[in-house]
This record gives sequence, structure tokens and C-alpha cells, in this order.
Amino acid sequence: MVTNKSSNIVDIIQKQRELFQTSKTKNVSFRIQQLKILKQALVENKQAIIQALKADLQKPEFESSIGEFRVINDIDNAIKYINNWTKPKKAPLAKEFFLYSAKIYPEPLGVALIIGAWNYPFNLIISPLIGAIAAGNCAVIKPSELAPHTSALIAEIINKYFDQEYIAVVEGGVETSQKLLAEKFDYIFFTGSTAVGKIVMEAAAKHLTPVTLELGGKSPCLVDTDINLEYTARRIIWGKFFNAGQTCIAPDYLLVDQKIKKDLVNVLQKFVKEFFGKNPEKSPDYARIINQKHFDRLTNFLQNGKILIGGETNYSERYIAPTLLDQVSLIDPVMQEEIFGPILPIIEYSDITEAIALINSQPKPLALYLFTNNKTLEKRVLQETSSGGVCINDTLMQFAVSSLPFGGVGDSGIGSYHGKASFDTFSHYKSVLQNSFWQDINWRYAPYKSILPIL
Ligand code: NAD
Repeated sequence: MVTNKSSNIVDIIQKQRELFQTSKTKNVSFRIQQLKILKQALVENKQAIIQALKADLQKPEFESSIGEFRVINDIDNAIKYINNWTKPKKAPLAKEFFLYSAKIYPEPLGVALIIGAWNYPFNLIISPLIGAIAAGNCAVIKPSELAPHTSALIAEIINKYFDQEYIAVVEGGVETSQKLLAEKFDYIFFTGSTAVGKIVMEAAAKHLTPVTLELGGKSPCLVDTDINLEYTARRIIWGKFFNAGQTCIAPDYLLVDQKIKKDLVNVLQKFVKEFFGKNPEKSPDYARIINQKHFDRLTNFLQNGKILIGGETNYSERYIAPTLLDQVSLIDPVMQEEIFGPILPIIEYSDITEAIALINSQPKPLALYLFTNNKTLEKRVLQETSSGGVCINDTLMQFAVSSLPFGGVGDSGIGSYHGKASFDTFSHYKSVLQNSFWQDINWRYAPYKSILPIL
């Protein structure tokens, strides 16, 4: 149904609240039906979505299919498990509670606000939306203004398939985001930078609204000597240059044992050429930088260290070649902020203690990558570092496993989602204790005098 797009934010929220109060969205059959409609909407518009992503980021179709369209699997997964997820779960009781029953009921929170980032502008809106619908909420979504083609298409599709009083899209930039954040929501799901995450949390605190903050950071990639060199290099190059490095969990920098650095660098360079050819600018499999501001930010990093491969740029195309940087120091700008682009600094270490100390000297990252066959080292890294998630001997693939909650810790975020975690995120778990009328044992009633001696 096409809805009136001119409605203002306050009206939209009010209407969604009214709908939520009717309990219509809480009905599990309704939720399944809406998830099916969402799937149909996305399948029917797949080509248009791929084109919008191409217009915004020149995202290769394959990368859109596996990086953005995985949401279709998320919908199927939610439909498959929703009856189980929504069932009240029995809680164990101590023997003195033998007359009682205890259960935990998931209930929707109400009206959720979902704010997205531009790098996976489709997935980062639709994926949390699936959780919001599955959990029985209404939702207001605000896609990123920096991916305008995708934002406009999401609005068109949602307006066509859903009533605004159930799911509404509000398009716009920072000002719109701030207007939304000034209102009271029952949940805020935000994906974006750590700096804006703090603004969101501050705004949410005014209404005591709970939040999920899916933020970023510098995700280290630690490479030991005990590895399969070819597989390691290929998986790193893929994870770093997928979407031209504009991935929140892209390996941000390499920490390589100095004994293997030279060999690794050779194979990394080989795979850059194998993946994207002699001139990656001509490759159909390589995306562009989202806008001039980020292009300028990234090209400044090319002044740091020594370029091993890449470094070429084209301003009008917003093209930056896949670049490997050597001889980078920790005080260089490229090591001071999240890179979020196709530049990979390589730092060597001589002792693993030193590498772990470096990781721990930085804010907690969203992802940590470790390449090793050494179980003792693996155990040590898992125990001595903290990150949103860890992926061992691969990159990015952790994002695709719906049984693994995805989210950050510390500066990289609060909360998690994907699969059941998405349902949990948009649910309140209500504890319900029930007594019966079968008996009424009077040990707790006044006068207490007679009871005290037996306690
Ligand atoms: P951003 O924080 O600049 O913007 C995100 C959203 O917030 C946009 O919709 C934008 O309109 C809004 N916004 C921006 N400034 C605001 C303000 N002052 N007040 C209120 N709202 C505001 O982030 P971005 O540039 O779109 O995305 C890049 C960042 O997102 C990176 O740090 C990246 O690591 C992170 N990210 C994290 C994940 C994750 O799942 N953890 C996924 C993708 C991106």
C-alpha cells in the first residue's frame, strides 16, 4: 500500500503506537505474514536494489548478493524458528516453590527506531528490521543519506508493501536523525560510527530508551608463522578489499610475525593482482569510495609509510587502488583512526606478547582476526584480548553465521543481533511467576513471631 509520505515524524510515531496498542503486531501469524511480504518485496526488487547499490558504491553484483542480500536467509531463518522463539520458556524453581510455575515470556518493546550506515546501506537497515518484525514491533527506519539511491529505493519499497503505521521510512541526514532522536522510542538500533553512537546514546538516555549500538573501530589481523601462506593471504585480501575496504569488520591493519612478513607480503601482492588484474580501476569486481569527503580522508593516508602495491587514485571516479602499506608507525594518522577504505598497513612484531600488548593498547575492536594453527597461541589470544567477535583463519565470514550474535564491545558497540540475537534484541523477556489455589502454606504471613525461631 502506498502511504502518505508527507506525514511528520510525530504523527508517524503516534500512529505506530496506536497500532501497537491494538496488539495486532504481536500476533505470531501476523509477524510471519509480514516477514513473507518483506521477502517478496526484496525478491521482486532484487535487480533494482543491486542497481541502487551500484549507483551509490559501484558495488559489484556478487558483493551485493552475498554482502547485502543475505537478509533473505535471515528472513527464512526467522520464519523457521519464530514459533520456537516466541514460546514462553519454563524457568527452573527451587524445591520450596513446588506450588508455583515460572515462565519467561518474550514480548515486543513497541515502536523501534532503526538508523543505518552507508557501507551496506541495504543490509544494515533490513537485517535489524527483520528482528523488529519477528519480535512483534512497529518500526521507523532511517537509511543513510550518504547512499541516496539505496535510501530512496528502500523508502519506495517499504511504502509500497507496508502501511506507514506499521513500518515507516524517514529519509534524511543528520538533522532528520536528530529530530527522530528527540522523540521517545521504545528501542533504538543504531549502526554507525563510535562518535555518533555516543550522540545516539545521550539522546536515548533522555527517554531511558534502550539501545543497540553497532559501531566501528580498528579490527586487527594477527598473522603467526604457523599458517598456510596462500590461504591466509587470499582470505586477507578478500576480506580487506571487499566493498573497497568499506566494511565495519574489514581487517584494518596486519600484525605479522617478522619471520614470515616478507613471504606473506609477496603472496598478498600476488593475490591483489590475481583478484583485480594489473589495473584494478578496470576491474568489475572492485567498488568505489562512497563520496569525496571519504576519498580525501583516505588519500591522505597514502602519505603514510611506504606503498608496496597500489596507491593510485582517480578523484572523479572516487577510485583508490587496493593498497598495501609498509613501514607504518603507530603514530601515523592511518593508525590513529578506523581506515574504512582499501588501504592495509602492515606492522611486524617479533614477539607475540608485544603484538597482544599493541592490540590491548587500542580501544576494543569489533573484530579480531587470527591466522594460526597453533592451539596454544589461539588460546592465549582468545584469553588475553577482547573484541566484539573473533574469526580464526578467515575474514568477514563470522558476519554470515546467523547462530553467532554479531556486535561490538567497549568502543565498538553495545548489544548484538543476527538470527535469534535479533529477536532477543527487539524483545523484552518478561518473567512471570504463578501460584495456584491448591494450597496456601502460611509460613510467611504475620504475625511473624511464631516463624522466626525456625528460620
Ligand atoms: P555515521 O555515524 O556518520 O552515520 C550513521 C547514521 O547516523 C547515518 O544514518 C547518519 O545520518 C546518522 N548521523 C550522522 N551524524 C549524526 C548526528 N550528529 N546525530 C544524529 N545522527 C547522525 O556512520 P557512517 O559514516 O554512516 O558509517 C561508518 C561507520 O559505521 C564506521 O565507523 C563503521 O565501522 C560503522 N559501521 C558499523 C557496523 C556494525 O555492524 N558494527 C556496520 C557498518 C558500519
